[in-house]
Amino acid sequence: MKTVIVGAGLAGTSVAFHLAGRRQVQILEQGDTPGAEASAQNAGMVRRLGEDPWERALAIRTVERLVALDSNPGPFQISPSRGVGAVLALAHDEGHLNDAVAHCRIHGIQVEDLKDAASVSPVLAGSALRRAWYLPQERVADAHQLVWGMLRGARDKGATLSTQTPVLSLLIKGGRCVGVQTLNGPEYADEVVLAAGAWSGNLAASAGLHRPLIPMRRTLVQTTTHPQSAPHLPWTWIDDVGLYARPEGEGWMLSGCDETIDPPPLGPGSRGPVENEPRALLLHKIEHHMPVLSNVRVHTGWTGLRTFAPDRRPLLGADPELPGLWWAAGLGGFGVTCSLAIGECVAAWMNDQTVPWIKARPVSPGRPQLRRWPIRPDGTLSGAVLVDDETP
Ligand SMILES: Cc1cc2nc3c(=O)[nH]c(=O)nc-3n(C[C@H](O)[C@H](O)[C@H](O)COP(=O)(O)OP(=O)(O)OC[C@H]3O[C@@H](n4cnc5c(N)ncnc54)[C@H](O)[C@@H]3O)c2cc1C
Repeated sequence: MKTVIVGAGLAGTSVAFHLAGRRQVQILEQGDTPGAEASAQNAGMVRRLGEDPWERALAIRTVERLVALDSNPGPFQISPSRGVGAVLALAHDEGHLNDAVAHCRIHGIQVEDLKDAASVSPVLAGSALRRAWYLPQERVADAHQLVWGMLRGARDKGATLSTQTPVLSLLIKGGRCVGVQTLNGPEYADEVVLAAGAWSGNLAASAGLHRPLIPMRRTLVQTTTHPQSAPHLPWTWIDDVGLYARPEGEGWMLSGCDETIDPPPLGPGSRGPVENEPRALLLHKIEHHMPVLSNVRVHTGWTGLRTFAPDRRPLLGADPELPGLWWAAGLGGFGVTCSLAIGECVAAWMNDQTVPWIKARPVSPGRPQLRRWPIRPDGTLSGAVLVDDETP
């Protein structure tokens, strides 16, 4: 049986890794190299304390797998992640993440209430917080190593990768998806997996399917050397403010969590430059909420596309309206965090199996979606605005 996977980012390589050996797997990638879009633009934080319960289920499973790779990396050759710990804090809305904390604790994840957050995370010195938690086991992961490790594992089992092969549309025959039309001609398959990140919604539309997936641009900056940065420090996120700091090199990787709806380019190349407005937003937030960092100097930075469904839950599994089409898309801001679990559950469902840690229905690509939904342009919870399909 032949399966074509569209896209060689974290989603596509994860499905290939888990499916290869049971299928003849071919990955088609429009770019020159795998993992060069959103999968190369992230901050690499592995966060189990997320807002959505199904995202958390995927994250919890992925971390179990990442921990196992520490001692037995297999095709990854070296472990793609390491434990650094994390601090999640709230400046205004102390009820936010309550459920998430309970869920994580039930799963045995250490979540400690912090009285003096700055004692664990020096960037929080002088920050007025209502609540903070320390998760000593949280990790950072290298998305590049994840993509290449999963690809290596898939290739070891016979999967192939064709780069510079843009898929133009899905091929439909008798109400079934029977392959894809590429720039080089048709590629027939028994099943197609849509793992095309920010481009997935448009490809689905080529088959007449309406699957709202909204690419949103976010800014990350890297600072020059800073005296407070050290590799052993936890990454730190003030969630309701929308501000995070991850020690990176001798400086910090920072984001003010800006969100701007932005359709992807026609071909590869979704990475963008840092614009003045989000940069000013970030510096303003730092001044007010991480004053210790107010003397940082931005060295470099970039923007990338995080692609969400309206309910911010991934689209995983069989498309209920188009037999033969499967999904691994809508990974938003949690594609590194959920990477290994995404492919594991999609491959299991393709093989008519179940996994004990997530159900298919809540992440079904055909689930009802809101017609208007909130996005967070300035990264704060309170500054959310409603958008719809027509919002540019
Ligand atoms: C600024 C930023 C910060 C982030 N920080 C984090 C973080 O700290 N932690 C975390 O867990 N996640 C984070 N993420 C999210 C994470 O990076 C994404 O969820 C993840 O990379 C999505 O992977 P993907 O495979 O779905 O998409 P992509 O990596 O974009 O891969 C899709 C692939 O499909 C290919 N493709 C598209 N259309 C076609 C076509 N028509 N034909 C052939 N190929 C095609 C593309 O070229 C691309 O290679 C962040 C993202 C951004 C942008």
